[in-house]
Amino acid sequence: MPEPTSEQLKSWDRTFLWHAFTQMAEYEPLIIDRAAGCVLTDIDGREYIDGISSLWCNIHGHRHPKLDAAIRQQLDRVAHVTSLGSSNPTTIKLARRLVDITPDGLEHVFFSDDGATAVEVAVKRALQYWRQCDNPRPEKTRYVALGEAYHGDTVGSVSVGGIEQFHAVYRPLLFETLRVPAPDTYRTPEGVSAEGLLDYHLDQMQRVLAEHHEQIAAVVLEPLVQGAAGMIMHPPGYLRGVRELTKKYDVLLIADEVAVAFGRTGRMFACEHENVTPDVLCLAKGITGGYLPLAATLTTEEIYRAFLGDYSESKTFFHGHTYGGNPLGAAVALAGLDVFEEEQTLKKLTQKIARLGEHLERISRLPHVGDVRQRGLIGAVELVKDEATKEPYPWTEKRGIRVCDHSRTEGVLLRPLGNVIIIMPPLAISLAQLDRITRAIENGIRAATC
Ligand SMILES: *Cc1c(COP(=O)(O)O)cnc(C)c1O
Repeated sequence: MPEPTSEQLKSWDRTFLWHAFTQMAEYEPLIIDRAAGCVLTDIDGREYIDGISSLWCNIHGHRHPKLDAAIRQQLDRVAHVTSLGSSNPTTIKLARRLVDITPDGLEHVFFSDDGATAVEVAVKRALQYWRQCDNPRPEKTRYVALGEAYHGDTVGSVSVGGIEQFHAVYRPLLFETLRVPAPDTYRTPEGVSAEGLLDYHLDQMQRVLAEHHEQIAAVVLEPLVQGAAGMIMHPPGYLRGVRELTKKYDVLLIADEVAVAFGRTGRMFACEHENVTPDVLCLAKGITGGYLPLAATLTTEEIYRAFLGDYSESKTFFHGHTYGGNPLGAAVALAGLDVFEEEQTLKKLTQKIARLGEHLERISRLPHVGDVRQRGLIGAVELVKDEATKEPYPWTEKRGIRVCDHSRTEGVLLRPLGNVIIIMPPLAISLAQLDRITRAIENGIRAATC
């Protein structure tokens, strides 16, 4: 068979492929054929800077020689080994390395394949822990999660999620979660000052824990930044405060660092900013540098011990995914961690973070920009209809999409969240590329808000 033409591919793409989070009736094919560094090339030869790290997962750029080589070397040994009762050297080395680099106290690694499964594992494990720990508390079966939370798309992770537009339709399938408002530094509750915001939100959390802690297995949250909510950024001290409250009320803390880990916030893990060790840590997206699906759920010794016992006691964690801990994924993850050291990725980030800050400062002065926010190499620009009242544009007007459509014509690939433009490039981005991304956004905003 001859190779399909570019027109055929576009037609087949529309006909046969059902894309994630995409209204297929309106889908316009964008077909990436190859990439190098932070630049993607489509089948017609057009180039785009990858402004969203191929959905927040690419770290060191595409086709990094070291990462490519790691996969080829692993291929020469074995492509897949099941983690159900067996192992392989590469996956073992990665588990040990993750225990080394994550916050102290996280000692055991369970591998799965995506962010949602990492969270699903965390949720199930928390409940089982309370049944099997030294002083069993089987009534602890409920979860606390934040407003607008996003933890993935499986039924358990959607249950702890709180994004109405995505999650409402599935409500009949979901378990009920206790909800605490997101500590949003832009849309603050009426009558609460910026200085009072932290105390207000910790008090909200405290009230729910005080009332229901006997039934609560865990608090689940995205530390520092709530990604899919539109990069809601928490006031400093919130994570630390929630950690203290969960200890006080004997509730586990599950930190979903799927979006923020691996250098995104300027530190390897977001929890490091507030010196927090959660009881459970979920990792995915950046773990393989954006190469292969792999996820990890780390837990403390105390949780792990509650699952040990004689086979007949049925304390086993009855959960697994066929490809969990896949050695190809583990190999590229290990190589990615080497690259962090060899290329001093975190050290080099300081300058890029500062540059992004300067650009955001300039963008903040454009009409209809209600807020700009930044944490490390995560940037967000929120468009509003009215800056004074913060009244949003109706989502049906697709202002965010229009800005990103414009950016695409300038060779910059972005994907908005409603009215929020997300800037989430690979950590390997150059200063010149950052300049181009932000310039395309500026022009896009002018075109889409006039
Ligand atoms: C993307 C994301 C997930 C889900 O990860 P998938 O790999 O898409 O399943 C979970 N939590 C957070 C915070 C995320 O950003």
